[in-house]
Amino acid sequence: MLGLVQDRPLLISSLIEYAALNHGDVEIVSRSVEGPIHRTNYREVNLRAKKMAQALTKLGVEFGDRIGTLAWNGYRHLEIYFGISAMGSVCHTINPRLFPEQITYIANHAEDKFIFVDLTFVPLLEAVKDHLTGVKGFVIMTDEAHMPETSLDNVYCYETLIEAEDGNYEWPVFDENSASSLCYTSGTTGNPKGVLYSHRSTVLHSFCVCTTDGLGIGNRDSILPVVPMFHANAWGIPYAAAMSGAKMVMPGSQMDGQSIYELMEQEQVTLSAGVPTVWLMLLGYVKENNLRFSSMNRTVIGGSAAPRSMIETFVGEYGVEVCHAWGMTEMSPLGTTGNLLKKHENLSDDEKYAIRQKQGRTVYGVELKIVDDEGAEQPRDGVAFGRLLVRGPWITSGYFKHEGGDVVDADGWFDTGDVATIDPDGYMQITDRSKDVIKSGGEWISSIDVENEAVGCPGIVEAAVIAVPHPKWDERPLVIAVKEKDHPVTKEDLVHHLENSLAKWQLPDDVVFVDELPHTATGKLLKTKLRDEYKDYKLPTA
Ligand code: ADP
Repeated sequence: MLGLVQDRPLLISSLIEYAALNHGDVEIVSRSVEGPIHRTNYREVNLRAKKMAQALTKLGVEFGDRIGTLAWNGYRHLEIYFGISAMGSVCHTINPRLFPEQITYIANHAEDKFIFVDLTFVPLLEAVKDHLTGVKGFVIMTDEAHMPETSLDNVYCYETLIEAEDGNYEWPVFDENSASSLCYTSGTTGNPKGVLYSHRSTVLHSFCVCTTDGLGIGNRDSILPVVPMFHANAWGIPYAAAMSGAKMVMPGSQMDGQSIYELMEQEQVTLSAGVPTVWLMLLGYVKENNLRFSSMNRTVIGGSAAPRSMIETFVGEYGVEVCHAWGMTEMSPLGTTGNLLKKHENLSDDEKYAIRQKQGRTVYGVELKIVDDEGAEQPRDGVAFGRLLVRGPWITSGYFKHEGGDVVDADGWFDTGDVATIDPDGYMQITDRSKDVIKSGGEWISSIDVENEAVGCPGIVEAAVIAVPHPKWDERPLVIAVKEKDHPVTKEDLVHHLENSLAKWQLPDDVVFVDELPHTATGKLLKTKLRDEYKDYKLPTA
């Protein structure tokens, strides 16, 4: 017997319609690419998204067509997010930090019909335009006054397209399982692969993001997503913000510490989200200038492990609660959040930091387990580690066009490529990417553990730990670190610092100081590049 409940499809259009009707005046503030701060609200965003849908229909865009975007976090990108998906086409966010060949590959693989582009990235498209096979036209995200000279063909001006429409348009109703957006993983190996989200998965994920133990988003929040909209849908924040009527503050192209801090203060931001590298810059600026946060009370750190020292600074020095979150593009992306439980209230600061440093507990909707190489489930004792598998209604069932073949097993589990422990309270801790662990004489050394400890050493700004071949032990750890400017910290100081927390066999065999570490397009340490650079490195112990 079926229940007697209305079967209304979960569609992205419902998010922006809800926000426009119930939180119409709530502001969307953007640092525009043209320069000035721009203000709009949910009512306007919905109206202009409808106008864009009308314009795209006239240009021949049909249900299911992929439309690319190369854009920063800003109000026009938000209008496109809602407009394209809500009309039934697929919003394909392209990461502009990828190599030109990868961008060409992705746009062709997705068969993008049109590409929306911020002024900043017009030259990037001009350079690859002759290799784009299916693109029928480009929409430059600006007004007539700022339209650039360009060698692109079939160019449209965003504001002109919108001005020509009346917005008298009803969002269509269709199957909630229809594709809504597409995001390629940056792919440190092989070609990038497309993760194709649905309306249903996006709306369910938004509910989860809004829950108190998700990211806890509500209408009193002013949210600044530093995480880009081209990276796993800015962790789902644009959709969740509309669902809850939260104010959005969009940083545009300026992600340096000063620009982010100024926006946070001016717009009384309460919640922010980004990768550790970004917070490093922000905290550096705040510290140097002896500043405080007047409104920000929590921040989400994810994408890579949040070092304990960073969590301590936010919580201990600035009173900003940290939600350490883990997920991946393939998971929409939220998987776990590192909030404390009621029973942790009376623990010492030290014990609390140790918990906050873990990647956290599963949110409702995501199942986790760890398995060994034979697929046998490992105990949840916080000690045993294994390959981390996940399943749930917002986790990919396969990459676009079946790239990479079948990626879930018969029971629906997807292998994350991470290695982790799970403790009896359900807190998961990533010990490594399966390809980054250092296999030393039959023991595994977690590169992440060593990195976390290394950045806690005074004078060390950033550190990467990689395996270097060793005649006796197979592999041994090498630390490649960046120092604070003019800081006298030495290799011996760093090793001495690591001795406090690591076993002797886990200590690095050598330390190299560099000016800068390479990062992927999504801000993670690019270890493949480092491994390649240091593959012939002679360790003093070899
Ligand atoms: P990419 O496109 O670079 O793969 P993703 O966000 O999809 O970007 O990357 C997901 C991976 O990032 C995870 O599998 C995990 O290895 C790493 N990651 C994400 N969040 C964390 C975290 N909080 N701590 C450690 N690693 C993380």
